[in-house]
Amino acid sequence: MNAKLPVTPLASWIAAKIQAAGSRICQEELRAYQLASLNSTLRWARQHSPFYRDRLAGLGGGNLLTSLDQIASLPFTLPADVREQGLQLLCVSQSEISRVVTLDTSGTTGQPKRIYFTREDQELTIDFFRCGMSTLAGPGDRVLVLLPGERPGSVGELLRMSLEQLGAEPVPYGLVDSLSAVLNLIKRERITCLAGVPVQAAALARYWEKNGGGWAPQRALLSTDCVSDAVVRELKRIWGCEVFRHYGMTEMGLGGGIECAAHAGYHLREADLYVEVIDPATGLPLPDGEYGEVVFTTLTRRGMPLIRYRTGDISRFRPEPCPCGAGLRLLERIRSRCDGQLRLGGNGGLTMADLDEALLPLPGIADFSAVADNGSALLKLRLCLVLLEGFPVPAPALLRKALQQIPALQRAEQAGQFDLAVEWISCRDVLPFRAEKRRLRMTGGGPPQQLRAE
Ligand SMILES: [Zn+2]
Repeated sequence: MNAKLPVTPLASWIAAKIQAAGSRICQEELRAYQLASLNSTLRWARQHSPFYRDRLAGLGGGNLLTSLDQIASLPFTLPADVREQGLQLLCVSQSEISRVVTLDTSGTTGQPKRIYFTREDQELTIDFFRCGMSTLAGPGDRVLVLLPGERPGSVGELLRMSLEQLGAEPVPYGLVDSLSAVLNLIKRERITCLAGVPVQAAALARYWEKNGGGWAPQRALLSTDCVSDAVVRELKRIWGCEVFRHYGMTEMGLGGGIECAAHAGYHLREADLYVEVIDPATGLPLPDGEYGEVVFTTLTRRGMPLIRYRTGDISRFRPEPCPCGAGLRLLERIRSRCDGQLRLGGNGGLTMADLDEALLPLPGIADFSAVADNGSALLKLRLCLVLLEGFPVPAPALLRKALQQIPALQRAEQAGQFDLAVEWISCRDVLPFRAEKRRLRMTGGGPPQQLRAE
């Protein structure tokens, strides 16, 4: 069945960027390119950024590293470094910066994190988006962009520019507010593909199904938040839509990796990023197949290169090759974050992705927020579920049964230590929650770093 799978377009894109001899990737050529680019980044950062001048002071001149494995000897860059010393990481004057993205503005963590990009850095992102989007769209497609795009250089705007380069027709909108307005636009513009946030896309499909159907998109790129299997199944069931997961964060330059038609994991933007998986406790690199924290180094960034940046995302490199035959590494999809798991006694924990898989299959659920507290032996879970109008409130027994699919909750229930409180919000048309990245909020006993603002 895999014989006809198209090879990810990232293969020829990376081959061209690294000036490979053929159109297929040869691992030795890619590693040699990455080593050379890594060394230029180290030289550039040490020369121009006060932060890295200090951090990399111990490295010799000339060829800094002689093999990629030696990257393990370099110090990590932490989100706190970016937050506290942002401008010290810059390698160009502020006049050369064309876009600043401010993250973590909720205020509880002190200073916000700012990421700086030059025009050249943004061009690299547009180029990656163009290649990535060609996995699912091409000339003749009308692509609805349900991501923020009001500001110059925002993800929605860069995606729009990349789609224009691809010959597809972008239809920019922004995050979903009114479900009916977006569905009317889908019908009116005969949208073939959409790019958006997972729960919002699922809510659109459910609202569409409840309200008479009509024109439906055929392919979707879902990004920003964890993309659960539950959402992928719903889009396929309702719209017959093929979903492609994207992995990225602002620090990566927005784009990081995208699934191919095999849907086996992300192919990464390996000509612009060097990605590692490390043991979050010891900081040591892990072999393929083992789960750890994703760490990346930018290879082509000029404004604010990041060296061994710790993402907090947990994943692993799949040991087996991708069925598409690209010869590129596959990073398994992200299911949890170092700080996003409520650790429970014994084995196991609870993540927002677990709750997504359990709750989103329930009929009519458009979104939810969750607060967990395990300050005592009792695990308290407070859910606020958004139910589309016209769907009956699921029976409490059904909801409990859905939650019991999560082993940690099943164990707590069996031990008589699970306390569930549920609140419902009815949604007629406008989605009440607007967070792009949803988080399991935690109070009580977890490790202190688990306390994160929404
Ligand atoms: Zn593939």
